[in-house]
Amino acid sequence: MSGQDFFHQGDRVAVLTAQPLDRLLDYRAPEGGCFRGAYVEVPLGPRKVLGVIWGAGSGNFDSAKLRSVIRVLDVAPMRDEMRQFLSKAGDYTLTPMSLMLRLATRAPGLSDPPSMRKVLRLGEREPDRMTPARSKVLAVMDEFSSMAFTPKELADMAGVTPSVIKGLVGQGALREEETPRDQPYPVLDPLRPGKTLTADQATAAAALAAGVESGSYGTTLLKGVTGSGKTEVYLEAVASCLRKGRQALVLLPEIALTAEFLKRVEQRFGATPAEWHSGATMTERRRVWRMLGQGNAQLVIGARSALFLPFRDLGLIIVDEEHDSAYKQEEGVLYNARDMAVLRAAMCSAQVVLASATPSLETWSNAEAGKYKRVNLTARFGTAVLPVMKAVDMRGEDLAPATWISPTLKQAMALRMERGEQSLLFLNRRGFAPVTICRACGAQVACDNCDARMVEHRFMKRLMCHQCGETKPVPEVCPSCQVEGKMAPVGPGIERLGEEAAALFPEARIAVLSSDLFGSARALKARIEEIAAGEADIILGTQLVAKGHNFPLLTLVGVIDADLGLQGSDLRAGERTFQLMRQVAGRAGRAERPGEALLQTFQPEHPVIRAILTGDEEEFWRAEAAQRREAGVPPFGRMAGIILSGSDLAQVFDLGNALARNDGPLRQVGAQLFGPAPAPIARVRGRHRVRLLVKAAKGVALQDALSRWVQPFRMKGDLRLSIDIDPQNFF
Ligand code: ADP
Ligand code: ZN
Repeated sequence: MSGQDFFHQGDRVAVLTAQPLDRLLDYRAPEGGCFRGAYVEVPLGPRKVLGVIWGAGSGNFDSAKLRSVIRVLDVAPMRDEMRQFLSKAGDYTLTPMSLMLRLATRAPGLSDPPSMRKVLRLGEREPDRMTPARSKVLAVMDEFSSMAFTPKELADMAGVTPSVIKGLVGQGALREEETPRDQPYPVLDPLRPGKTLTADQATAAAALAAGVESGSYGTTLLKGVTGSGKTEVYLEAVASCLRKGRQALVLLPEIALTAEFLKRVEQRFGATPAEWHSGATMTERRRVWRMLGQGNAQLVIGARSALFLPFRDLGLIIVDEEHDSAYKQEEGVLYNARDMAVLRAAMCSAQVVLASATPSLETWSNAEAGKYKRVNLTARFGTAVLPVMKAVDMRGEDLAPATWISPTLKQAMALRMERGEQSLLFLNRRGFAPVTICRACGAQVACDNCDARMVEHRFMKRLMCHQCGETKPVPEVCPSCQVEGKMAPVGPGIERLGEEAAALFPEARIAVLSSDLFGSARALKARIEEIAAGEADIILGTQLVAKGHNFPLLTLVGVIDADLGLQGSDLRAGERTFQLMRQVAGRAGRAERPGEALLQTFQPEHPVIRAILTGDEEEFWRAEAAQRREAGVPPFGRMAGIILSGSDLAQVFDLGNALARNDGPLRQVGAQLFGPAPAPIARVRGRHRVRLLVKAAKGVALQDALSRWVQPFRMKGDLRLSIDIDPQNFF
C-alpha cells in the first residue's frame, strides 16, 4: 500500500469530486480525521458536493484559504482496489476521473444518513394487566427474539390490532428503537445441492470452481451451444465463490432476462439475490450499493454498470452472452463491460467467466493464445439436439410484390401449425417499413434533425427517427412534390411482417416482439412468459428474441433476411451475422422436439452464410482471425474512433483538419490516421458528425499518444470531441 492511510484533523487531503474539474482538490481533514477512500462532503463555492479522500494533499494551494471537509459520510469507504480500477479504467477509456467517480456513485442518497425505521423490542416493564391479545404479542416477541419488527409487522404476526401494540408501548412493555432502513439481503445457501450435472458439465464446473478456489485472477471462456447448460455450470462457480465467503456478480446483456434468471438463482440458493439495472427502484439501488459495501449482499445480477458497484470482496464475475454488443456503452463513458470485467477482476484477484455459444473474436483469440482458459460444453442437455440449418435460396423462390415469406418457409410454418408447434420469424428491423417513399417523385421521408430516413411505426401511426426518436405523422401530401395520396411504405419491418403472417395464416395466434412495442420491461417479460407457455403459434421478433429466451414449443426459426447484416463496411459485420444467426437458430428445438432453421438468402455461397449452415465454428473463427490479422485490425491491432460534432459543419471539419495536420504524437508511435470524413450518420439531433479513425499496432501505448494529440485543441462553442477506444460501431 502506498502513501498514508489515515489523516488527522487539519491534515491536508486531496479529494476527488464528481465535478467536471480535471484535478483533485485540497481540503483539511475534518474533526475526527478520515481514512483514505472515505466518502465525504466538501464545500465547493457555495455548494456541498460528494467526494472521496484520494490521498495526501498536493500542497500547491494557499493553506490560509484551505477549507475543511464538512463530514465523512456513513457509507463504507472506497477500497484501494476500486480506486485502482477507476484509475486504470479511466486511463484506458481516456475518461476524466470525475466521470469515473460518477459511474461509481450512481446510487441515490449517498450523502443521506442511512434512513431509519422504527422497530420494537421487549421493554423493561410488565404490562399492568395481561389480555389474550397482549399475551399473543409477547409470545411472538419471545419466539423471534433475535428479530426486529415494525409495529405493523408485529400486529400482523400476532393477529392483533395496532392499538394493542400502542397500548404495550405506552406501558413500557415494548419499546421503540430506530434501525437502518437498508436491510441486509437474505442469505444465499451455497451448500444446497444443485442439479446433477452431466459428465461434460461436471468437468466444466470443476474447472471453473478450481479457478475460484485459487483465490487469484483468471479468465475462462465457457463456450457451449445454447441449451448446453452454461448457466447451470456457472451457477456452480457462483456456489464455490459464495462458499469461500466472497461476493459474485452476474452480468446479463438484457434486463428482460433478469426475471427468469432470478428464479433460477432462487431455486439453486434458496433466496433471491440483489438486482442492479435501470429498471430497479431508487430504494433498491440505494440498498444494493450500501449492502455490497458492508458485505451484506452476496450476489448481484446486473447490467454493465454493476461493475462499478462497491463490492467488499468480489471473487467472481460472470459475463453471460459475452459477445453481446449491449456490453459496449455507447454514450457518456465509452467502455466495454466485458473488458472492464477483466480489468476489475485483475485488481481484486477475482475470476471472470465469459459465457457464450458464439464468443467474440477477441475472446476466442485470447483463448487461442492461452491468455484465457477455455472450457467447452459440446452437447445440448438431455434429448434436445441442435436445429438443422438450411438455406432458402431466394433467387429460386416465387414471391408476390411486397411479401417476404418464401413459399418454402410458408410450407414449413404450415407444418408447425398442424403439429401445434411454434414458429419464429426473425427480422432485425423495428417498425412497419424502413422507408416511406413518394410514388410520384421518388422522395423519401427523412428526419429533420438527422441524416436518417424515418421509419414507419404503424401501431403508433407515425414515422419515427431511430437516431433521435423524433416522430411525425405519415404525410398525406408529399413534402417534396406536393402530390397527394402517393406516399407508400417500402421494405419490411417487423410489424409489416406480422401483417403478412396474419394474411397467410388467418387462424394463427401471432405475437410480435419488438422492444418498442412494450411500455415496460415488465410488460415485455410477461408477454415472453405467455409465449413460452404456448400462447402463440407464430412469433415475430427483432434482435430481442435472439437473447436467451427459452420457448419449449418452438421448432422452426425462419430468418427473413440473412444477408441484412452482411451489408455495410463494418469490420465486425461477418462476425455479428454469424453470432446472431446462430443465436436465433439456437432458439429452435430447446426441449424434446428437434428444431429446424431456415435462412432466406440471396447469396447462399457467401463464406459467412456457409459457415452458419455447416456449423463449423472453429473454421469460421480461424478464417475471420486470419483476415483481421492480415489487415492489422482488432484484436490483432488497435483502433480508436474520434467523433467530432457540432452545429456548424465548417467548424467541425476545420477541427478535423487541424487534428489531421497535427498528428505528430500519433506518427511518433507509428499509428495511422484516417479522415476526417463525414460519419456514416452525418447528422444526429441537428449536430453534424465527422469521424477520424486511428489504427495502431498491438503493443503501442495508444491512449498516451491520443491524449497528447488531442490535448492542445480547445473546443470552441458547442464543438465536442469524443474518443472511442476499441470502437464496436462505426456510425
Ligand atoms: P445455456 O445457458 O447453455 O443456454 P441452460 O443452463 O439454460 O443452458 O440449460 C438449458 C436447460 O437445460 C435449462 O432448462 C436447464 O435447467 C436444463 N439443464 C441443463 N443442465 C441440466 C442438468 N444437468 N440437469 C437438469 N437440467 C439441466
Ligand atoms: Zn432524427
